[in-house]
Amino acid sequence: MSLGNQGKSVFVLTGAGVSTGAGIPDFRSAGGLYDTVRPDLITASFLQRQKMRMDPTYVVERDMFFQNAFPYLEVRRPFILGTHQQQWKATISHWFMKFLEEEGKLKRLFTQNIDGLDYQTGISPGRVTNVHGSIARVSCEGCGQEMPFDDFCTQVRANIKDIYKVDPEAPEESTNIPCPSCKRPLVKPNTILFGSCLPEEFFERTPELGQADLLLVAGTSLVVSPANSVVNEVPSSCMRVIVNREQVGRDLGIDYGISAARDIWSGERTCDETFLELIKLMGWQDRLRRIRHLLPESNREMIQDL
Ligand SMILES: [Zn+2]
Repeated sequence: MSLGNQGKSVFVLTGAGVSTGAGIPDFRSAGGLYDTVRPDLITASFLQRQKMRMDPTYVVERDMFFQNAFPYLEVRRPFILGTHQQQWKATISHWFMKFLEEEGKLKRLFTQNIDGLDYQTGISPGRVTNVHGSIARVSCEGCGQEMPFDDFCTQVRANIKDIYKVDPEAPEESTNIPCPSCKRPLVKPNTILFGSCLPEEFFERTPELGQADLLLVAGTSLVVSPANSVVNEVPSSCMRVIVNREQVGRDLGIDYGISAARDIWSGERTCDETFLELIKLMGWQDRLRRIRHLLPESNREMIQDL
């Protein structure tokens, strides 16, 4: 696999798989966030607790948030503050995108991840489209007023209780974080709540895919719409490289046959393994060595002999 002649105009779609090496908690799997929601500890009414008991994803639903923002803020508190403290590090996969940008090849990165790890590499924020929002960007769900992430985290630390009982500095009771503009307690990371629309930016940016000559699809199962539509927004001459352990997107027309004309599969490797391989093929080892100390531990072990 090489980026050879193709790859003057590269577009990328990423999902959870590019952040696995960083140790980001997985919300949906067993033992993940929704599995460990304990409604009894959350600041909520009896009825709201009943609903959360029946369906833990209720904590990230729009209706619930407008009634009571505490379930969302209390459940997400460790993730919000951990992101602020850079508890999780950008992976080889994230850095590959940064190197692509340095080469002038990367046109746009669409990411379904809300972890904001892309920005740690110093990639131009204007090249990144957060399809499902980002934990590190904060605004009021009611009026849209933005709030700096630093300020928001200061308030989360002081106002929101720690239902996981790991932060001795956390308050005993939660109190509202009012919007600086409309004063309603609707300030939160701009991640998409269930029942909300996607940010308009996604739809504004998809027409750019018409210029793509190479599309990298990495670490996503391609089951979430409309993000998965990206694979069919590129021209029919565009090469599509699927970096994923499983052969995803067959129903969208990705071709895994031996005579596939334009689709290439990474094989059963992790995203970081594949992008490390590509970094070697491109001769970018020096760049990776330079940022070695910024990588997660698991990644550093992978490149010991680089
Ligand atoms: Zn507001």
